[in-house]
Amino acid sequence: MTVRIPLPTRRITPTKNPIGKNWSEHKPDLKEDFNSHCGWCGSYDGFRHTYFEVDHFIPKSFFELSGKIGYCQYDNLVYSCKFCNNKKLDKWPSQSETVFSKGDEGFVDPCDIAYDSTHLYRTSDGGIMWKTKLGEWMATKAFGFDERDYSIKLLWNLNQTRIAIEALVVLLAKEINGSSRYNLIKSKAQEYSLEYFLYHKELIEFYNG
Ligand SMILES: [Zn+2]
Repeated sequence: MTVRIPLPTRRITPTKNPIGKNWSEHKPDLKEDFNSHCGWCGSYDGFRHTYFEVDHFIPKSFFELSGKIGYCQYDNLVYSCKFCNNKKLDKWPSQSETVFSKGDEGFVDPCDIAYDSTHLYRTSDGGIMWKTKLGEWMATKAFGFDERDYSIKLLWNLNQTRIAIEALVVLLAKEINGSSRYNLIKSKAQEYSLEYFLYHKELIEFYNG
């Protein structure tokens, strides 16, 4: 599986000013383009477990030195959960804004298909693993997916359950109330709802200690 489903795509023309320093203005566009999921770890933003932020793919501290990249340059912005953003900080592998990786260290833009197709993947139980050395560096050194394995899996499973319930609710609305198909879909939705409740309880306990 891919780490993010569906894969994010940045719009060509952002709705807000691409010039200036108010990069957080781009958050609504990014939320939409990243399908409400963190560009790095794929966690869904609707569980209120963390803040979601606007991350700079090439870090501000780096391009401030060369001055070639704008703070609001949309193709350098990433919708990111606070955990990924805090872990990534101003890591950058090279002395150039056009060299994203050097040897086994560096980054792949989260809107580049290679992020999932070449370097990282989602395991069947919701964890994030790597296929390359660069993927390993991103997963361990850059974002700490290994240290965050428990919460990453929990968030993934909770979100998959949410998606399943939403799909069943749509199906249910198309059936005649009380028909055998209606009852079947309803009982399936109830099963998932219990699962959702239990995952959610686990999530609250995990983050609230
Ligand atoms: Zn994240």
